Amino acid sequence: MRIGLYPGTFDPITFGHMDIIRRGMGLVDRLVIGVAINRDKGPLFSLEERVELIERECAGLMRESDTEIVVHPFENLLIDCARDVGAQVILRGLRAVADFEYEFQMVGMNRKLDDSIETVFMMADAEHQAIASKLVKEIARLGGEVGKFVPASVQQALLQKFS
Ligand code: ADP
Repeated sequence: MRIGLYPGTFDPITFGHMDIIRRGMGLVDRLVIGVAINRDKGPLFSLEERVELIERECAGLMRESDTEIVVHPFENLLIDCARDVGAQVILRGLRAVADFEYEFQMVGMNRKLDDSIETVFMMADAEHQAIASKLVKEIARLGGEVGKFVPASVQQALLQKFS
């Protein structure tokens, strides 16, 4: 059974993340979405809120596919999380050059920690290239329209946070 781990902060989940999840589902039998607690990043949404939004949006995706999705919060090392869930591959999305530098370094370190776990990158779809959780939060905070970047449930949650 092919198990993939797609880790991130998902603060909050966007159409960009969902595109990677949808495409990742075509590569593995089980896709574990690893939600990093990331207290240092000072997330806007609590871990429980982020997990709930991901689960809600993934329910629809699961109905369209045989691939199982599991949402798994983690606070330990990424490579240990991958071992815990039995993943052979880590999936990451790549947007612009800005993502590359950091990802390149991460892969290098992770390979040193465990070279049996492969990291696979998927290029962001042109339509979702510009979407970043950070900017979505900024737009919502300033009262802008975010419906083009996030699903309705997330849009609603952002409205509540900033009302
Ligand atoms: P992290 O804190 O790990 O960067 P994010 O939630 O920001 O967490 O991103 C998780 C993963 O999703 C990363 O691999 C990131 O590059 C990818 N990602 C984020 N936004 C997009 C997008 N618009 N298109 C494709 N991949 C994306």
